[in-house]
Amino acid sequence: MTSTFEDIRSTIRGAVITEGDPGYDEARKVYNGMHDQRPARVVRPVDRDDVVAALRLAREAGGDVSVRGGGHSAPGFGTNDGGTVIDLSLLKDVQVDPRARTARAGGGCTWGVFNDATHAHGLATTGGVVSTTGIGGLTLGGGIGYLARSAGLSIDNLLSAEVVTADGAVLRASERENEDLFWALRGGGGNFGIATELEYRLHPVPDVLVGIFVFPLEQTRALFQFYREFIRTAPEQLGAFPAVLIAPPLPFLPESAHGTKKCAVVACWAGPLDQGEAAMAPIRQVAATVGEMVAPMPYPAINSLFDALLPPGMLQYWKGTFSKDLTDGAIDAHVEHGAGVPTVNTAIHVYPINGAVSRVAPDATAFPYRDATFATVVATVWSDPADTERNIAWTRAYYQALAPHGEPGTYINFMDGDEGARVKDSYRGIYDRLVAVKRKYDPENVFHRNQNIKP
Ligand SMILES: Cc1cc2nc3c(=O)[nH]c(=O)nc-3n(C[C@H](O)[C@H](O)[C@H](O)COP(=O)(O)OP(=O)(O)OC[C@H]3O[C@@H](n4cnc5c(N)ncnc54)[C@H](O)[C@@H]3O)c2cc1C
Repeated sequence: MTSTFEDIRSTIRGAVITEGDPGYDEARKVYNGMHDQRPARVVRPVDRDDVVAALRLAREAGGDVSVRGGGHSAPGFGTNDGGTVIDLSLLKDVQVDPRARTARAGGGCTWGVFNDATHAHGLATTGGVVSTTGIGGLTLGGGIGYLARSAGLSIDNLLSAEVVTADGAVLRASERENEDLFWALRGGGGNFGIATELEYRLHPVPDVLVGIFVFPLEQTRALFQFYREFIRTAPEQLGAFPAVLIAPPLPFLPESAHGTKKCAVVACWAGPLDQGEAAMAPIRQVAATVGEMVAPMPYPAINSLFDALLPPGMLQYWKGTFSKDLTDGAIDAHVEHGAGVPTVNTAIHVYPINGAVSRVAPDATAFPYRDATFATVVATVWSDPADTERNIAWTRAYYQALAPHGEPGTYINFMDGDEGARVKDSYRGIYDRLVAVKRKYDPENVFHRNQNIKP
């Protein structure tokens, strides 16, 4: 390597881990075990200035640059072969201002760390349903979670971001500064720079009432038909999604149900606790449940409820759709293909895109599908490589059956790595505007390990 490279490397205060170093094999891994890649180096910056130095190093060395937040992206964008990974995991401080109801968090923070910090003040914002997901990737792509119907997407709560751009500049983006960058960051993913800090609006969310209602698989059609109407008018404090699943050994399910295929609704009431049961009551009317649990719990608890089902390193393949309706044809697809759900770890979820999410104008942020109503994900997760081909084929067949009932574009955070051509569709009506911002802040496409907007 050149002396310039060595000079820059010597300025980095965080770890620079290369092949042969202790910890290299751990450091190169991302969440999805499908991506067994070998970057030349993994840099773990300790602060914003170290991120600037890490980026200089990466650019001097050449090769791909991966920016890793929580490392959860299904396509494995957080690693690469032969390039540099800038792993933000040490940037995880969260500072809560309880009076202003805001929080500033490091770009490598996870939702678990963030939620714990804000919950200490009885506050929360919309984040992901698994605690180990990064706030970085999830927010920059949009951010769907239990609070979305009342509080909007994660991007709707983003107040500002500190960003290291491709040329090493440090910018603040907000409604008042670098507005074009701020607009593009809210949905445009990691295309525009490295977010070293994200500032969010918080909402009073003390304990929430959680309901999990598990039904026989034969009720899938009835459940989905019920849900498509129910969720349009249910009170907005209710976040809820239906699922097709293999039942885990949960204590509220009879043993005979463990490991068998079922359908279910997971609901989170973020309003006065004594009103939650009434809001969930219609769900119970669909059919007799196999088992159910309704209990108050802290907001961080519901957002870590499924963590045990999704340990790091499992093999994953994802498909997603946006749809204006859950048509009879889409429900047919869920009935037919859902019945083949291969593992207990697999998630087939239909998230609502309505309420506060749909009140934001489609061009106000880089998340244009405000009228989608439903975001479906088929996230297939397994452990034995011998099952890979079969599980990918099952996921694709499921998606092919759903696609005619959906929109051309989808939620970029539910896309895998083989759908690059769909990125343009996913930014319908705003793609050219995103390209213009990309040309301004990253003309050389340094940040291309993402659902890429080409300059
Ligand atoms: C178990 C699991 C649960 C999920 N649940 C939800 C959910 O409830 N709601 C939802 O909306 N999505 C969910 N997702 C999808 C999730 O939003 C995406 O996988 C997202 O990309 C993860 O972000 P990350 O930071 O963990 O991933 P990473 O792989 O680290 O990053 C993903 C992308 O974002 C970029 N990036 C990450 N951090 C930064 C940063 N600070 N600055 C600039 N670029 C950055 C990366 O370069 C990469 O392109 C889930 C995913 C998994 C695996």
